[in-house]
Amino acid sequence: MSLLTRLLKRPQAVCQPLLSTFLTRPCPICQRATRQVFCLDCDRQLEPAQPALPASPVSDPTSGPTSGPTSGLPVIAVGAYTGALKRAILALKYGNRPDVAAPLGWRLGQHWQAQSLSSGSLPLVVPIPLHTSRLRERGYNQAALIAESFCRATGLPLLATGLLRTQATTAQYQLGPQARQQNLQGVFQVGPAWTAQQRNRPVLLIDDIYTTGTTAHAATFAINQAGLQVCGIGVVARANLDRAAASRPQA
Ligand SMILES: [Zn+2]
Repeated sequence: MSLLTRLLKRPQAVCQPLLSTFLTRPCPICQRATRQVFCLDCDRQLEPAQPALPASPVSDPTSGPTSGPTSGLPVIAVGAYTGALKRAILALKYGNRPDVAAPLGWRLGQHWQAQSLSSGSLPLVVPIPLHTSRLRERGYNQAALIAESFCRATGLPLLATGLLRTQATTAQYQLGPQARQQNLQGVFQVGPAWTAQQRNRPVLLIDDIYTTGTTAHAATFAINQAGLQVCGIGVVARANLDRAAASRPQA
């Protein structure tokens, strides 16, 4: 079949690969033109830390390390919230670059598999939701996009509406530790779409960043209130890692 015939029959199939050969976008990290999401240099910088950043237990933000809904749950992260990873997340959240979520979620999925954290029943993946007003403003929920890609990488099931955010709140980064807790009290609620089979699975929460753990705490509290269990928290980047490491008991 000649190119002209193919073009007339299926114009998209012919034009799309041709266009992608020429179309470039700025790399969200260094702004150089690239045909991938990240340029090759930045892609290399985003490789998970070697050896992989270990899953580390949560220190509960309200009740200390020995009690509270998230205490002892593993947090897995691709890396620390710094450098290229930080710039990628900023582009995803504030630079209108939803395409950045897919490679980050994929990396988190590889990280999850490398750490073999799935013991027992396979978890159901639930992203931390945005309130509808924030969702309208941004146009997408970055945690949901990360979770979609994470599930493509791991094969784990996704329940995108497992949790709902029922109140609009101030952005957490603008608040101190105590105000963060008050800001998120009662804002999450379990969604109506859970089947009996899904209710039997432990929940893996997915978010973009883990900072003080207040969001994970509030989400876990809502899930526990509904009689469900959380088995861990997966994030692209973890902030305050030095502090987390310092508070971890020595092996
Ligand atoms: Zn770059």
